[in-house]
Amino acid sequence: MQIAGYTIVADYHTHTRHSHGRGSVVDNVEAAHRRGLHAVAITDHGPASLFHIGVPSLSAFDVIRQEVNAARKMYPGIEVLLGAEANVISEDGQLDIPLELQEKLDIVLVGLHPWVRWRPALKGASLVVGNFVGAWAGWGRRHVRERNTSAIVNAVLYNRVHAVTHPGYRLPIDTRALARACALTGCAMEINAGHDHTSVEYLQVARREGARFLLSSDAHTPGRVGEVSKAALLARAAGLTRREIVNVR
Ligand SMILES: [Zn+2]
Ligand SMILES: [Zn+2]
Repeated sequence: MQIAGYTIVADYHTHTRHSHGRGSVVDNVEAAHRRGLHAVAITDHGPASLFHIGVPSLSAFDVIRQEVNAARKMYPGIEVLLGAEANVISEDGQLDIPLELQEKLDIVLVGLHPWVRWRPALKGASLVVGNFVGAWAGWGRRHVRERNTSAIVNAVLYNRVHAVTHPGYRLPIDTRALARACALTGCAMEINAGHDHTSVEYLQVARREGARFLLSSDAHTPGRVGEVSKAALLARAAGLTRREIVNVR
Protein backbone atom coordinates (compact mmCIF):
# COMPACT_ATOMS: atom_id res chain seq x y z
CA MET A 1 0.00 0.00 0.00
CA GLN A 2 1.60 3.27 -1.18
CA ILE A 3 0.98 6.44 0.82
CA ALA A 4 3.00 9.66 0.76
CA GLY A 5 5.84 7.84 -0.95
CA TYR A 6 6.02 5.08 1.67
CA THR A 7 5.14 1.41 1.09
CA ILE A 8 3.09 0.49 4.16
CA VAL A 9 3.28 -3.26 4.85
CA ALA A 10 1.54 -3.65 8.20
CA ASP A 11 -1.00 -2.20 10.56
CA TYR A 12 -0.03 -3.17 14.10
CA HIS A 13 -2.82 -1.36 15.98
CA THR A 14 -6.43 -2.49 15.48
CA HIS A 15 -9.35 -3.16 17.84
CA THR A 16 -12.20 -5.66 17.75
CA ARG A 17 -15.43 -6.27 19.67
CA HIS A 18 -13.32 -7.82 22.45
CA SER A 19 -12.60 -4.22 23.57
CA HIS A 20 -14.41 -1.24 22.07
CA GLY A 21 -14.03 -2.02 18.37
CA ARG A 22 -16.97 -3.04 16.19
CA GLY A 23 -15.69 -5.92 14.03
CA SER A 24 -14.39 -9.40 14.73
CA VAL A 25 -10.82 -10.65 14.50
CA VAL A 26 -11.55 -12.21 11.10
CA ASP A 27 -13.16 -8.95 9.87
CA ASN A 28 -9.95 -7.01 10.64
CA VAL A 29 -7.77 -9.65 9.01
CA GLU A 30 -9.98 -9.76 5.93
CA ALA A 31 -9.82 -5.93 5.66
CA ALA A 32 -6.03 -5.90 6.02
CA HIS A 33 -5.69 -8.65 3.41
CA ARG A 34 -7.92 -6.71 1.02
CA ARG A 35 -5.72 -3.62 1.43
CA GLY A 36 -2.69 -5.69 0.49
CA LEU A 37 -0.96 -5.55 3.88
CA HIS A 38 1.54 -8.28 4.74
CA ALA A 39 0.74 -8.20 8.46
CA VAL A 40 -1.94 -7.06 10.87
CA ALA A 41 -2.06 -7.10 14.67
CA ILE A 42 -5.12 -7.49 16.89
CA THR A 43 -4.46 -5.20 19.84
CA ASP A 44 -7.44 -4.87 22.11
CA HIS A 45 -7.31 -2.70 25.23
CA GLY A 46 -6.15 -4.21 28.51
CA PRO A 47 -8.61 -4.83 31.38
CA ALA A 48 -7.81 -1.69 33.43
CA SER A 49 -9.67 0.60 31.00
CA LEU A 50 -12.82 2.01 32.58
CA PHE A 51 -16.32 2.21 31.03
CA HIS A 52 -16.06 -1.20 29.29
CA ILE A 53 -13.43 0.11 26.88
CA GLY A 54 -11.07 -2.76 27.67
CA VAL A 55 -11.36 -6.55 27.64
CA PRO A 56 -13.48 -7.78 30.58
CA SER A 57 -10.58 -9.85 31.96
CA LEU A 58 -7.23 -11.30 30.92
CA SER A 59 -8.92 -14.58 29.93
CA ALA A 60 -10.32 -12.72 26.88
CA PHE A 61 -6.85 -13.11 25.34
CA ASP A 62 -7.34 -16.91 25.31
CA VAL A 63 -10.46 -16.43 23.19
CA ILE A 64 -8.73 -13.87 20.96
CA ARG A 65 -5.85 -16.34 20.50
CA GLN A 66 -8.27 -18.98 19.21
CA GLU A 67 -9.85 -16.49 16.80
CA VAL A 68 -6.40 -15.36 15.61
CA ASN A 69 -5.48 -19.01 14.94
CA ALA A 70 -8.71 -19.50 12.96
CA ALA A 71 -8.05 -16.29 10.94
CA ARG A 72 -4.50 -17.50 10.17
CA LYS A 73 -5.98 -20.64 8.61
CA MET A 74 -8.49 -18.64 6.58
CA TYR A 75 -5.94 -16.06 5.35
CA PRO A 76 -2.57 -17.82 5.10
CA GLY A 77 -1.20 -15.03 2.90
CA ILE A 78 -1.08 -12.48 5.72
CA GLU A 79 0.74 -12.58 9.03
CA VAL A 80 -1.69 -12.17 11.94
CA LEU A 81 -0.21 -11.06 15.25
CA LEU A 82 -1.85 -11.61 18.61
CA GLY A 83 -1.31 -8.46 20.64
CA ALA A 84 -2.70 -5.98 23.14
CA GLU A 85 -2.79 -2.26 23.81
CA ALA A 86 -1.80 -2.31 27.46
CA ASN A 87 -2.55 0.48 29.91
CA VAL A 88 0.05 1.97 32.19
CA ILE A 89 -1.47 1.60 35.65
CA SER A 90 1.21 2.93 37.98
CA GLU A 91 3.84 5.63 37.94
CA ASP A 92 6.54 3.00 38.28
CA GLY A 93 5.45 1.64 34.91
CA GLN A 94 3.30 -1.36 35.75
CA LEU A 95 0.93 -2.51 32.97
CA ASP A 96 -2.47 -4.18 33.09
CA ILE A 97 -0.98 -6.94 30.92
CA PRO A 98 1.38 -8.82 33.29
CA LEU A 99 4.86 -9.84 32.15
CA GLU A 100 3.91 -13.55 31.86
CA LEU A 101 1.20 -12.64 29.34
CA GLN A 102 3.43 -10.10 27.53
CA GLU A 103 5.81 -13.01 26.83
CA LYS A 104 2.99 -14.98 25.18
CA LEU A 105 1.83 -12.19 22.87
CA ASP A 106 3.37 -11.45 19.46
CA ILE A 107 3.22 -7.69 20.01
CA VAL A 108 2.59 -5.46 23.01
CA LEU A 109 1.63 -1.82 22.57
CA VAL A 110 1.46 0.48 25.56
CA GLY A 111 -0.49 3.68 25.93
CA LEU A 112 -1.26 6.28 28.55
CA HIS A 113 -5.03 6.62 28.75
CA PRO A 114 -6.94 9.03 30.96
CA TRP A 115 -9.69 6.65 32.20
CA VAL A 116 -7.85 3.80 33.83
CA ARG A 117 -7.90 1.99 37.20
CA TRP A 118 -4.54 3.19 38.57
CA ARG A 119 -2.52 1.65 41.40
CA PRO A 120 -2.41 2.78 44.07
CA ALA A 121 -5.91 4.16 43.51
CA LEU A 122 -5.52 7.41 45.43
CA LYS A 123 -2.21 8.41 43.85
CA GLY A 124 -3.64 7.48 40.46
CA ALA A 125 -6.76 9.53 41.07
CA SER A 126 -4.63 12.58 41.84
CA LEU A 127 -2.92 12.15 38.47
CA VAL A 128 -6.23 11.75 36.60
CA VAL A 129 -7.58 14.90 38.25
CA GLY A 130 -4.27 16.70 37.70
CA ASN A 131 -4.37 15.93 33.99
CA PHE A 132 -7.88 17.29 33.68
CA VAL A 133 -7.40 20.39 35.79
CA GLY A 134 -3.92 20.97 34.33
CA ALA A 135 -5.20 20.82 30.77
CA TRP A 136 -8.11 23.05 31.61
CA ALA A 137 -6.52 25.69 33.82
CA GLY A 138 -2.78 25.34 33.32
CA TRP A 139 -2.54 24.59 37.03
CA GLY A 140 0.33 22.33 38.02
CA ARG A 141 0.82 21.41 34.37
CA ARG A 142 4.55 20.87 34.66
CA HIS A 143 4.20 18.59 37.67
CA VAL A 144 1.53 16.50 35.93
CA ARG A 145 3.64 16.29 32.79
CA GLU A 146 6.58 14.97 34.81
CA ARG A 147 4.40 12.31 36.43
CA ASN A 148 2.93 11.22 33.08
CA THR A 149 6.44 11.06 31.62
CA SER A 150 7.86 8.92 34.41
CA ALA A 151 4.90 6.52 34.12
CA ILE A 152 5.34 5.97 30.37
CA VAL A 153 9.16 5.94 30.46
CA ASN A 154 9.14 3.33 33.25
CA ALA A 155 6.58 1.32 31.29
CA VAL A 156 8.93 1.25 28.29
CA LEU A 157 11.99 0.38 30.37
CA TYR A 158 10.52 -2.38 32.54
CA ASN A 159 8.24 -4.28 30.16
CA ARG A 160 8.44 -6.17 26.90
CA VAL A 161 6.76 -3.50 24.76
CA HIS A 162 7.13 -2.90 21.03
CA ALA A 163 5.49 0.52 20.59
CA VAL A 164 4.03 3.41 22.56
CA THR A 165 0.58 4.35 21.23
CA HIS A 166 -0.36 7.99 20.53
CA PRO A 167 2.35 9.60 22.74
CA GLY A 168 1.11 12.95 24.04
CA TYR A 169 -2.56 12.33 23.27
CA ARG A 170 -4.62 14.12 25.94
CA LEU A 171 -1.91 13.54 28.55
CA PRO A 172 1.11 15.83 28.20
CA ILE A 173 4.55 14.17 28.27
CA ASP A 174 8.19 15.07 27.71
CA THR A 175 8.67 13.73 24.18
CA ARG A 176 12.46 13.90 24.37
CA ALA A 177 12.64 11.79 27.54
CA LEU A 178 10.29 9.18 26.08
CA ALA A 179 12.21 9.10 22.79
CA ARG A 180 15.46 8.45 24.68
CA ALA A 181 13.92 5.49 26.50
CA CYS A 182 12.51 4.17 23.22
CA ALA A 183 15.85 4.52 21.44
CA LEU A 184 17.46 2.59 24.29
CA THR A 185 15.06 -0.36 24.21
CA GLY A 186 14.12 -0.40 20.51
CA CYS A 187 10.50 0.44 21.26
CA ALA A 188 8.79 2.43 18.48
CA MET A 189 6.80 5.65 18.93
CA GLU A 190 3.48 5.53 17.17
CA ILE A 191 2.14 8.12 14.76
CA ASN A 192 -1.57 7.42 15.15
CA ALA A 193 -3.85 8.24 12.23
CA GLY A 194 -6.92 8.32 14.46
CA HIS A 195 -5.84 10.89 17.04
CA ASP A 196 -4.25 14.32 16.80
CA HIS A 197 -1.46 13.71 19.28
CA THR A 198 1.77 14.87 17.70
CA SER A 199 3.31 17.36 15.29
CA VAL A 200 6.20 17.70 12.86
CA GLU A 201 8.12 19.46 15.61
CA TYR A 202 7.64 16.62 18.14
CA LEU A 203 8.57 13.99 15.55
CA GLN A 204 11.79 15.82 14.86
CA VAL A 205 12.57 16.08 18.57
CA ALA A 206 12.03 12.30 18.90
CA ARG A 207 14.05 11.37 15.82
CA ARG A 208 17.03 13.38 17.04
CA GLU A 209 17.11 11.05 20.09
CA GLY A 210 17.26 8.04 17.76
CA ALA A 211 13.69 6.82 18.20
CA ARG A 212 11.94 4.88 15.45
CA PHE A 213 8.28 5.23 14.51
CA LEU A 214 5.20 3.17 13.73
CA LEU A 215 2.36 4.35 11.49
CA SER A 216 -0.97 2.92 12.58
CA SER A 217 -4.69 3.22 12.09
CA ASP A 218 -5.94 2.47 15.62
CA ALA A 219 -8.95 1.13 13.70
CA HIS A 220 -12.09 0.53 15.74
CA THR A 221 -14.02 -0.64 12.65
CA PRO A 222 -12.79 -3.07 9.96
CA GLY A 223 -13.23 -0.36 7.32
CA ARG A 224 -10.44 1.67 8.89
CA VAL A 225 -7.86 -1.10 9.13
CA GLY A 226 -4.78 0.03 7.21
CA GLU A 227 -6.02 3.63 7.02
CA VAL A 228 -2.81 5.39 8.01
CA SER A 229 -2.78 8.26 5.49
CA LYS A 230 -2.82 11.02 8.07
CA ALA A 231 0.11 9.47 9.92
CA ALA A 232 2.08 8.91 6.71
CA LEU A 233 1.59 12.51 5.60
CA LEU A 234 2.84 13.76 8.97
CA ALA A 235 5.86 11.44 8.77
CA ARG A 236 6.57 12.75 5.28
CA ALA A 237 6.27 16.37 6.47
CA ALA A 238 8.78 15.60 9.24
CA GLY A 239 11.14 14.10 6.65
CA LEU A 240 11.25 10.64 8.24
CA THR A 241 13.08 8.06 6.15
CA ARG A 242 11.95 4.49 5.48
CA ARG A 243 14.54 3.18 7.92
CA GLU A 244 13.03 5.24 10.69
CA ILE A 245 9.56 3.68 10.32
CA VAL A 246 9.11 0.07 11.40
CA ASN A 247 6.13 -0.84 9.20
CA VAL A 248 7.35 0.68 5.95
CA ARG A 249 9.41 -0.96 3.28
ZN1 LIG B 1 -5.17 4.06 22.82
ZN1 LIG C 1 -6.07 1.86 20.31
